[in-house]
Amino acid sequence: MSVIELCGVTKTFADTNALSAIDLTVHDGEFLVLLGPSGCGKSTLLRILAGLEVPTTGSVRIDGTDVTTTPPRERDIAMVFQSYALYPHLSVAKNIGFPLRTAGLPRKTVADTVAHVAELLDLTPLLRRRPGQLSGGQRQRVALARAMVREPGTFLMDEPLSNLDARLRAVTRTELIALHARLHKTFLYVTHDQVEAMTMADRIALLDKGRIEQVGTPTELYDAPRTVFVAGFLGSPPMNLVDVRLRCVDGELRADLVDQTLSLGISTTTDDLDRTRVTLGIRPERLAIARREHTAQDRNRTLGERPTAADSPRAAATITATVGLIENLGADILAHCRVGEVSLCARLPRVGSGHDLRPGTPIVLVAEHDDLHFFDAETGRRLH
Ligand code: ATP
Repeated sequence: MSVIELCGVTKTFADTNALSAIDLTVHDGEFLVLLGPSGCGKSTLLRILAGLEVPTTGSVRIDGTDVTTTPPRERDIAMVFQSYALYPHLSVAKNIGFPLRTAGLPRKTVADTVAHVAELLDLTPLLRRRPGQLSGGQRQRVALARAMVREPGTFLMDEPLSNLDARLRAVTRTELIALHARLHKTFLYVTHDQVEAMTMADRIALLDKGRIEQVGTPTELYDAPRTVFVAGFLGSPPMNLVDVRLRCVDGELRADLVDQTLSLGISTTTDDLDRTRVTLGIRPERLAIARREHTAQDRNRTLGERPTAADSPRAAATITATVGLIENLGADILAHCRVGEVSLCARLPRVGSGHDLRPGTPIVLVAEHDDLHFFDAETGRRLH
């Protein structure tokens, strides 16, 4: 068992509030990723769990025992650092066995354990080498092996892949997922890389400015971000976030975007939200091009009328825009479109759409009502 609980944890360094009121439970055997931009407090949180920092207030419990001030070596955890922190003058075997030798275990036990872990991580042929004779990925595995020999209940990892090139990072990512599945241990993993977080995590805790913005599965955070910050942080390219003004028309909510009125598919019995400013979010891949005949309709409409939901072939919001820059991603393109001063990015299939998009082309984009996200323009919190 290795359940970790953080209760009201804060950490202040001189005049910096690195962490504020952190409440977080990490379940036994879970792969939890601490994600967030540089300086948001991820490493500080990990260091508090490791016992390398003491929180200013709040408590840390492991399996129900308060370990807030317990020194690192007395916690059932091992930490893998970004730098790997290997001893350059020792062989791979000696590096891996180091924690066991310092714990005074018999030579045979050390040798057997090192051999076992090396086998698990494909390091057996490299045991006699020194760290300087290894690739970045191999060094990373040695650091991991050294953390594994003590069989801790929890592994803490601080950006362990950041020194690897893109290809090796992708390979090692897969290896870590497989390793976690094999070991059934609790993994806490710090990164600012959303791809790592999305692909590896059972759950993500997304931090900003020392606070947890949202904790949930990658899909929960992606599909139902609780704040504008979460919406804008996850996704590449990020979610389109535009300020709109709501209007109540005939028992339905609409949104004014520049010179257009979008149907939102939300009925309302009051006028309470009339004229409220909200942030509307639409993911680039949830925008599609309207049918060609629909585009023609909209071109006509620009003479006087505005598009409405009734014009749409399915219940969706339609947005008339002009194509600006186009980026070719191979399978897809990113069409950066303009609606007056507002930019909208649409991720569209490169072939097969039947549209020849060029800068300056008029375009009608559609987004299904379910793919519209609304956030309070003041607080950034999700509304719908
Ligand atoms: P990065 O991704 O850049 O490593 P991070 O999210 O891990 O960033 P932390 O290293 O936890 O962020 O730092 C959080 C805040 O606390 C930052 O503003 C940092 O400058 C500050 N900080 C961290 N350690 C100390 C320290 N020992 N003394 C003073 N300030 C510190």
